[in-house]
Amino acid sequence: MPCIRYRTAISAQTEGDPLPAGVTEQELSTHLTTCLDCHRWSKRLRALRAATDDLLRIRHSGAPTKPV
Ligand SMILES: [Zn+2]
Repeated sequence: MPCIRYRTAISAQTEGDPLPAGVTEQELSTHLTTCLDCHRWSKRLRALRAATDDLLRIRHSGAPTKPV
């Protein structure tokens, strides 16, 4: 199976979405242990996702509530 299918699955998993049809968690984890490219890619994606979450949290907690 081409890497792009796994990357779509990794992306979905990172977002908390269900895996795309045809990719099981077992297949995905097997691929990640055998494909260094996808392994690195998934680490980058998770790091990016975590950074985005932090930014959103800071923005939410730091923004003063405007009186209407
Ligand atoms: Zn791959």
